[in-house]
Amino acid sequence: MLTLIPLPAFEDNYIWVWHDGRHAVAVDPGDPAPLVAFLDAHRLGLSAVLITHHHRDHTGGVTYLRQRYNCAVYAPDNPRIPAVTHILHGGDALDIPEPGLHFDVLATPGHTLDHLSYVGEGCLFCGDTLFGCGCGKLFEGSPAMMAASLDAILALPEATRVCCAHEYTLSNIDFAKTIDGGNPALLERERVDRDLRAHGRPTLPSTLALEKATNPFLRFHDPDMTAFAAHYLNRPRPGAAEVFGAIRAAKDAWDG
Ligand SMILES: [Zn+2]
Repeated sequence: MLTLIPLPAFEDNYIWVWHDGRHAVAVDPGDPAPLVAFLDAHRLGLSAVLITHHHRDHTGGVTYLRQRYNCAVYAPDNPRIPAVTHILHGGDALDIPEPGLHFDVLATPGHTLDHLSYVGEGCLFCGDTLFGCGCGKLFEGSPAMMAASLDAILALPEATRVCCAHEYTLSNIDFAKTIDGGNPALLERERVDRDLRAHGRPTLPSTLALEKATNPFLRFHDPDMTAFAAHYLNRPRPGAAEVFGAIRAAKDAWDG
């Protein structure tokens, strides 16, 4: 049986780990220490590492893990990512025989230009593209690029479990309420997620259905968000990418 676990790392990262009791696969191990402790405690080998993008808090453990476990390292085509054994592009697929896992690779640029997401086993590993009730900052890409990436995510089945690389959900909900405070699904999510965090539990994985209902960054086709953006930009009838850009700009201003 396959088990999926979010391992906390640094302040608020999650390293997602699949295992079958013998072999494990880890997504974005920025820090090797919590992963090695987990693998040791459960007597697991590490078959493979999947990397979503080049930021150090996602890649910092790769060199050590590759040396220690001789694991495969799947990553986007970026020389800043060390110890890569398999370079991937959007549209690729990968099979990891131990444990038996299959992933489709989705190009999701916007947060960074190299960003990939992995879709498989009913889950989406979206790195810093999508967060619980939020999305990644646009460090390298444009709003139109990120909106296209989020459209690709919107096309996935609603039951897809959304496995983000950071626990940012509560502060994202605080922002979402400033532009979408009348959304009952958002207020219900806040109640549930505050309770989870109060008990030290992750708010993730969420589901794509929940994100579609509550995450303003997935609702840039929605009339309410379009009205918000028209007001924010002081311009009638903004297009979907402009709506997304306005929400992102409002969040960046709110972050300060
Ligand atoms: Zn990042």
